[in-house]
Amino acid sequence: MEKTLSIIKPDGVGRGLIGEVLKRLEENSIKISAMKMLHLTKKQAEGFYAVHRERPFFNSLTDFMTSGPIVVMVLEGENVITDYRELMGATNFEEAAEGTIRKEFATSIEQNVVHGSDAPETAEFEIGYFFNSFEIIN
Ligand code: ATP
Ligand code: MG
Repeated sequence: MEKTLSIIKPDGVGRGLIGEVLKRLEENSIKISAMKMLHLTKKQAEGFYAVHRERPFFNSLTDFMTSGPIVVMVLEGENVITDYRELMGATNFEEAAEGTIRKEFATSIEQNVVHGSDAPETAEFEIGYFFNSFEIIN
């Protein structure tokens, strides 16, 4: 079984889209193995997005990610990394496929409602960033 980290970003929580995202996970039989709500500090957001440190949008992105509470989840399934990224849609919502979360709800390339790990190695880092082993259901 593969695992991935999902985040409902501050725009998604603030606009009342937690239920919408959870509904889509359940409809697609994606198992939720851990879940909690957090309000990140700037330092915590910078650590999470360290791979993007040199990008021009890094400061704005980490400001956005600390602008309100987020919901972090561990998702589990056979191909959950790819399956969940398909549900999310492309980073740029204008290029996202019809019916995806970002196509329907994102309002900008930055404010795109959800995050999902992009590979097994990043998933492992990202899950460990937010959860210890006692918090993940087996
Ligand atoms: P995520 O990592 O959040 O799941 P992603 O893998 O689709 O999204 P990344 O390239 O990892 O996209 O970018 C991380 C996040 O940074 C994006 O989800 C978005 O919020 C923001 N971002 C990406 N590109 C831009 C950009 N050109 N301008 C502003 N923000 C951006
Ligand atoms: Mg990414």
